[in-house]
Amino acid sequence: MVLRDCGADAQPGPAGVSGVTRNTFLAIGECMVEVAPARDGLYRIGFAGDTFNTSWYARRLLPGDWDVGYLSAVGADSVSQEMIDFMDGEGIATTAMKRLPDRTVGLYMISLKDGERSFSYWRGESAAKALADDEAWLEEALRDRRVIHFSGITLAILSREARMRLCRALAKARGAGALVSFDTNLRPRLWESAAAMKEGLLLGASVADVVLPSFDEEEGLFGDASPDETISRYRGAGAKIIAVKNGPEPGRLWSEDGGDATFAPPKVEKVVDSTAAGDSFGAGFLAAIATGATVSDAADCAASLAAKVIGERGALAPQLFEQRGATWTY
Ligand code: ADP
Repeated sequence: MVLRDCGADAQPGPAGVSGVTRNTFLAIGECMVEVAPARDGLYRIGFAGDTFNTSWYARRLLPGDWDVGYLSAVGADSVSQEMIDFMDGEGIATTAMKRLPDRTVGLYMISLKDGERSFSYWRGESAAKALADDEAWLEEALRDRRVIHFSGITLAILSREARMRLCRALAKARGAGALVSFDTNLRPRLWESAAAMKEGLLLGASVADVVLPSFDEEEGLFGDASPDETISRYRGAGAKIIAVKNGPEPGRLWSEDGGDATFAPPKVEKVVDSTAAGDSFGAGFLAAIATGATVSDAADCAASLAAKVIGERGALAPQLFEQRGATWTY
């Protein structure tokens, strides 16, 4: 299936956007070294991270004339350079990647025990924590972007002051015509407290046009009785489009233009690895919206991609895509 089959026609979109001259998609956050079990007790090294995964899928879904990039910070050591080389090799622009000589990148390791995956993280000192230290640099990096995507994890790794700086820069970019997207991605262990997490999420949502929450997480933190309660909170924060994901269950949609709707994820017989379900959903949704699809069609595209991604091992599933010239199909 190609994205165009989902109703997208590769037109510059979304309609009515002013001031943006280039087809650009930029995701912001932390990409980490991933150490994952391979065969014979050996481990394989890769690179992944929620918003990075979204940019990786967006690169494959958006037409070849779109510039898809990542904004973060890395060190000046060789593993940082390997990460940059990986991004370049995957077609993700690295012009918004900061280099900080006295830092390095974060790392996580996946352990497999009786088929269950558990994660250990080494990210306390990662360079990405400094991605929003310079507001003037951020404003420049966010200038003339058509779509900008960030997440609750992007905010969680920053200090409170840095969160404010990033959100101010996002608000400015939004005012200049960018479509700003926020995947709430709740990670309680990364926040100082539940109160700080709630405050941070509402701050993030307040600068976003598109909010992509997961119902089970929102239910746990805010006590939402139904996805409609999740929608009303983010409508209240100023979102224009909301897609509430709910695992294999039907998800809820709301948009300023189209009102309420529901989407039903395709049935998946065997979930091999649920990593990046939400990240790939976000890429499918945003790529479709950015190229002119309706919110309902975008959710169907997103759910169809996510269903395929969870049938494969690992966050990034290159085997789902085939490259023909400058564009990929899946
Ligand atoms: P997150 O990964 O952000 O927590 P979800 O677990 O709700 O989000 O999953 C995101 C999307 O992935 C869902 O809306 C759905 O489209 C798809 N998905 C997740 N789990 C399944 C599943 N078991 N079967 C089919 N689709 C699924």
